[in-house]
Amino acid sequence: MRSLPLRGRLSDVNRPALRDSLQRPLGALRLSVTDRCNLRCNYCMPEEEYTWLPRAGLLNFDELTRVARLFLELGVRRIRLTGGEPLLRRGLSELVRQLGALDGLDELAMTTNGVLLGSQAAQLFEAGLRRITVSLDTLSAERFQRLTRKNEHAQVLAGIEAACSAGLVVKLDTVLLRGVNEDEIAPLLAYAAHVGAELRFIEYMDVGGATRWEPTSVVSRTEILARVQEAFGTITPKDGRGAAPAETFSLANGTSFGVIASVTTPFCGACDRSRVTADGLWYTCLYATRGLDLKAQLRSGATDETLRALLEAAWTKRDDRGAEERKTLPHREALIPVSALRGDPHLEMHTRGG
Ligand code: SAM
Ligand code: SF4
Ligand code: SF4
Repeated sequence: MRSLPLRGRLSDVNRPALRDSLQRPLGALRLSVTDRCNLRCNYCMPEEEYTWLPRAGLLNFDELTRVARLFLELGVRRIRLTGGEPLLRRGLSELVRQLGALDGLDELAMTTNGVLLGSQAAQLFEAGLRRITVSLDTLSAERFQRLTRKNEHAQVLAGIEAACSAGLVVKLDTVLLRGVNEDEIAPLLAYAAHVGAELRFIEYMDVGGATRWEPTSVVSRTEILARVQEAFGTITPKDGRGAAPAETFSLANGTSFGVIASVTTPFCGACDRSRVTADGLWYTCLYATRGLDLKAQLRSGATDETLRALLEAAWTKRDDRGAEERKTLPHREALIPVSALRGDPHLEMHTRGG
């Protein structure tokens, strides 16, 4: 593999990490490049109609790059491009190139549904992207159609293969839903091992947009591990999770896999992530109902100094523990009603970027 074009390395930059009120550093940024999507996953966009962000309000590449640079200057080291479906954003590889040239960036990654990856993987690698996570919830084309309301399963598999061939480090993310795909835990793991990708199972979360969420639909970490053990034998936990959302495990045959158990085993205590929507609102928690409007600042001529001061002040005050708080509720149900989502699309997971 060619060496990373990213210029900065942690050791190059000698800056104390900015800490929030719970002593969590500002370490990772998820940058959403669009709220549009070409799938309608049942756990994320189950409705027929959506309110979209006005196109004129989307940050352009220079604005996105400026936002990324400011976060890097405050200590962020990892940036993940997301959406909506990020590959719908025209000219995305140019943004990858711009971000890859920023100082201080250790890791630039992307999360995608993979539908358009077949035609874009090589270009993204060439632009400097090295890591990609593809969502893959089923190996059945028919089930995919029922789960996403689109007939694009073959394109997703082709996209995964193209990403592997292009030299990208590929991870696969599977959201498990009771009665839908929990019977595919073993086949999906076998598929991931076959293509050389690490798979992570995700508990179905009650985030904004998951309007069909019910506690009984969640396939828990405990059940996931039991099913993997039943299929493949002994599971050994790996050390060194750090701030990563996934716990990783290995099987006796050497296969690694992860579990992201935000519902039953939240990991807010180590959360160093925040999110910027495609129109420049900054959210310090997936469950936060209010964001800081960076676009208004960017477009009214705010200086870098002003912007950094705003970000620094907000992160220093941050005390979010959304998933941990949700876990303590006696009666847990869908987070936000459809009517409220229509009124403010920023509350949607597909706008927040997952
Ligand atoms: N469209 C891209 C994709 O699907 O990979 C990127 C955006 S999507 C919002 C990011 C991640 O959020 C995906 O891995 C998706 O599976 C996950 N996600 C969406 N809704 C979820 C839910 N209710 N519970 C758990 N994960 C969810
Ligand atoms: Fe599915 Fe991602 Fe689109 Fe949500 S944003 S509907 S998870 S593909
Ligand atoms: Fe971080 Fe909020 Fe998710 Fe907890 S719920 S891990 S604080 S984003």
